[in-house]
Amino acid sequence: MTGPAPVLAIDIGGTKLAAGTVGPDGEIVAYDRAPTPAGDDPEILWNALEALLDRIPAEGAAGVGVGCGGPMTWPAAEVSPINIPSWRGFPLRERLRARYPGMPVRVHNDAVCVAVAEHWRGAARGRGNVLGMVVSTGVGGGLILGGRLIDGAGGNAGHIGHVVVDPEGPPCGCGGRGCLEAIARGPGLAAWARGQGWRHDQADPTGADLAADAREGHPVAAAAMRRAGRALGIAIASATHLCDLEVVAIGGGVSQAGPLLFVPLEEALRAHARMDFARRVRVVPAALGQTAGLVGAAALIHEGGRYWNRRTRNGAPAE
Ligand code: ADP
Ligand code: ZN
Repeated sequence: MTGPAPVLAIDIGGTKLAAGTVGPDGEIVAYDRAPTPAGDDPEILWNALEALLDRIPAEGAAGVGVGCGGPMTWPAAEVSPINIPSWRGFPLRERLRARYPGMPVRVHNDAVCVAVAEHWRGAARGRGNVLGMVVSTGVGGGLILGGRLIDGAGGNAGHIGHVVVDPEGPPCGCGGRGCLEAIARGPGLAAWARGQGWRHDQADPTGADLAADAREGHPVAAAAMRRAGRALGIAIASATHLCDLEVVAIGGGVSQAGPLLFVPLEEALRAHARMDFARRVRVVPAALGQTAGLVGAAALIHEGGRYWNRRTRNGAPAE
């Protein structure tokens, strides 16, 4: 092979496992996916991941980049993804290092990887100060300031989903109350609408069903989307003031509702972001689709100078 070697990239979610090789410009060279097995045996999931990885050629790869649902210890990456109950403290990085001896293995939160991908190759390309968000089953994010990924003390910076937008709001899966995620996550907005009398043919209607009804003019469905959009706008206004953001890129299933979400979002954002610097922020849909997580995971290796800032105690870059 000529040119810089590709990176083996892995994206581990509650619904699917995806893996591929990603070239130095973010292009996906090989790609495959498999459903995430249910059950409580951690080795069944690991075996499914290995079976998937057996189908991806990794010889000569520059390293292994991984996005995985949080929380996790970091950078050691003992992972306990909320949506994958069989992995609790699962030593993901250690297992991958044993499988790919001699290669750097870097694991980060999956939403952080999506934010990195949007900064590297997507809607926030060329901007120095960016919040990347995923609004789907949960609400996650990643923060890039001064052109570099911000990790925080334990790799958890960017957790916009747990910014409080309504202290009297619904309880959140994190144990708190009124977090953005509790209001704007797909299942949360469908649950709120049901509580307000919204009914649907489906026994267990989703955020997508709700958005479809809102588009048809159903008043409660439309109100649910407005409520989610407003919560997003309030959280983004706060984040903008705190971080002096230029661009916020939003992806994830719920963002596919389009104007139903983005119009009330903009209204709330403009109502709360009044100072000149804050008014300049732009909110845009994410540009990369389903593969954003893989592209961002690969960037942890390809663009480690910007996106893998972890330092050892003596200041040397961590592997
Ligand atoms: P995951 O959470 O597994 O990453 P997605 O990004 O597809 O998956 O997000 C799933 C959530 O997004 C579900 O709650 C679903 O109801 C919601 N959703 C999917 N499509 C739409 C849509 N067009 N409008 C509103 N919500 C949607
Ligand atoms: Zn929360």
